[in-house]
Amino acid sequence: MTTRTDSTAAAGAGTGGGTGTGAAADRPITLTATGGIDRAAHHRMNEAWLAAAWSHPTTRVFVVSGGQALVEDDGEGSTELVMMPSFDAPFTEAHRYFLGVDDEGVRYFALQKDSLPGRMDDIARPAGLREAGLLLSARDAELMAHAVGLENWQRTHRFCSRCGERTVIAAAGHLRRCPACGAEHYPRTDPAVIMLVTDEKDRALLGRQVHWPEGRFSTLAGFVEPGESLEAAVIREVAEEAGVTVGHVDYVASQPWPFPASLMLGFMARATSPEIHVDGDEIEEARWFSRDELREAFTTGEVRAPSGISIASRLVERWYGEPLPGPGAGPRPGG
Ligand SMILES: [Zn+2]
Repeated sequence: MTTRTDSTAAAGAGTGGGTGTGAAADRPITLTATGGIDRAAHHRMNEAWLAAAWSHPTTRVFVVSGGQALVEDDGEGSTELVMMPSFDAPFTEAHRYFLGVDDEGVRYFALQKDSLPGRMDDIARPAGLREAGLLLSARDAELMAHAVGLENWQRTHRFCSRCGERTVIAAAGHLRRCPACGAEHYPRTDPAVIMLVTDEKDRALLGRQVHWPEGRFSTLAGFVEPGESLEAAVIREVAEEAGVTVGHVDYVASQPWPFPASLMLGFMARATSPEIHVDGDEIEEARWFSRDELREAFTTGEVRAPSGISIASRLVERWYGEPLPGPGAGPRPGG
């Protein structure tokens, strides 16, 4: 079992499964669609270019703090990151991350601060990526995921893992350098597999983690171990968590999951044996659902539809064949 307390590999709620037919299979996965930002990594070491880009009047800056940024509704049903020109940005003592350039030449920076800036109006509100990722445009979601991932890494890698000295930020937020031993430390991304398992009857395997609220089921998931292929990780995690043997494994899509540093790699997997033996440690319960059984369970409220930002819900929809009921679906209290 590759359980970790520092990060949530099995994040969303989901089910597992099969054929990938229907419109649901074509729905974009939040944070997966490209937002049209060129990260322009070749500029990161060029301090003169960065200084000029920072002070350019069209440059846009937002503040990230503790995984949150300010967002505001535009009054027309869309939500945007609150961005400002650099001359309005609170630069003192901040870490400055260069995030990239859009196709109109606008440069984007994030500032990591100890707190989000106050605003005179009350329109802007702080939001984390789990909420904002569902509301923001693909461009803004990509910018925020990039900034939050850098912030998470910067906060926890202030000291050299080779010699213990304090490291200094470089490459516009994408590198930390050790002045004592010269080591260069780059942001980490930890691969995690997340998979919808189906059996020969095209039922989907859903599991419940021990600490989840009642009724919440999702796809199985876990971290890839050193020296392990993604396919082997899928097979191992399903065996460890649910005792189910998996044969064929198909890659579907990936999703950045900077909570704090994961990349979720989504798979469809086919079981070769339906017997379930949950580990009881990470997974408390696992069940096979036919589509009809899952639909019934959603309707009665026995199972909560996976919702939110995670790729898990898209994997379930691929198998289920239609969008899943929203989080408010199911019987109402007293109704
Ligand atoms: Zn060092």
